[in-house]
Amino acid sequence: MSDKETRHKERQEKLKQAVDTKIANAQTVKGLMIVITGNGKGKSTSGFGTVARGVGHGLKCAVAQFIKGNWECGERALLEKNGVEFHVMGTGFTWNTQDRIADTEAALAIWEKCEQMLQDESLDLVLLDELTYMITYDYVPLERVLTALRNRPFMQSVVVTGRAAHRELTEMADTVSEVRNVKHAFDSGVKALKGVDW
Ligand code: ATP
Ligand code: MG
Repeated sequence: MSDKETRHKERQEKLKQAVDTKIANAQTVKGLMIVITGNGKGKSTSGFGTVARGVGHGLKCAVAQFIKGNWECGERALLEKNGVEFHVMGTGFTWNTQDRIADTEAALAIWEKCEQMLQDESLDLVLLDELTYMITYDYVPLERVLTALRNRPFMQSVVVTGRAAHRELTEMADTVSEVRNVKHAFDSGVKALKGVDW
């Protein structure tokens, strides 16, 4: 064996030992809170990927989407066919007009549904897609969100997506990933594509 191969083998053995130790140390079983934030593309895709994973294993999943309004996203069509409860922020929500009263009403209406989901022992996994903005714009009080998340059933997992996640959300989460924008097609004038972007 050459020096290079020996070094490689030693490194791999060390790595395997480290991973084995981590696996042996990971003994806790509980529902997870995951936050996917940052400016790059892939946050909602990741959240829906987790839901697809759960559905594939027969978990009971639910989704609340805080932005998309009435536009038909591909995930919804697929997941509803597979028995996933799906709530989208209702009419009245208007990013463009910045009508705070209507926005807040729409946000609170869907948040009430979320509170029910976060108390539902039968739900294994809840995706709160684009929730971070509700806190940023103060449409839903931070404390109300934190309380519902903190008191959810012990085995229920929750995925929160959206840019600029509040520090209190990331502190409460078990896993936080920040998707960094390296480049995005939109910046070079490429249109969002059905089935890829929504
Ligand atoms: P996706 O739903 O594709 O996973 P995302 O959830 O990470 O994206 P959002 O901020 O929710 O990102 O934006 C939703 C839409 O904006 C998607 O169509 C996505 O392709 C697009 N988008 C995401 N990131 C960027 C970016 N950095 N520049 C331009 N457009 C973006
Ligand atoms: Mg998104």
